[in-house]
Amino acid sequence: MTPGIELRTTAAKGDGVFATRPFTPGDTVLAGQIEKRLLKNHSHASQIGEHEFAFHAGLISKFNHSCNPNCGIRLNADGGHDFVAMHPIEVNEEATFDYAMRNYTIDHFPGNCTCGETACRGSITGWQDLPQARKDQYAGFVAPYLVEMDAKAGLQNVASKFSH
Ligand SMILES: [Zn+2]
Repeated sequence: MTPGIELRTTAAKGDGVFATRPFTPGDTVLAGQIEKRLLKNHSHASQIGEHEFAFHAGLISKFNHSCNPNCGIRLNADGGHDFVAMHPIEVNEEATFDYAMRNYTIDHFPGNCTCGETACRGSITGWQDLPQARKDQYAGFVAPYLVEMDAKAGLQNVASKFSH
């Protein structure tokens, strides 16, 4: 049992992770512990590198997506994803993150988003399709490999510009 959060079932969204104590920005909401590494994606796996995926122990796969999330991702010393409060979280508030903070593209949960936030993008998109303003807002709270892939894509664009 992780102190501070618990799994609850809601009528509207099914399972979700809820705070049982308040969190302030920067607090670790859930320390990520890798159970198994994989070389391809799976509906409950976390993407931890360009071609690397992993199952995490505990409640990580139960966090719901939101387009206005209160949690982000921080890489820990073992290469796992810690979930960290990005905004204050009240008791009984659902802890959410943006799938785009972890996935370059969305392979397993495509389609319409039902998060209900005013900032909702309408469909769940990966990091690749996130507007730059959003990426800036999430700085420091996303899986670092995503930023590396952007840098690589940027270099390729520059290279193709000069080769013509
Ligand atoms: Zn949404």
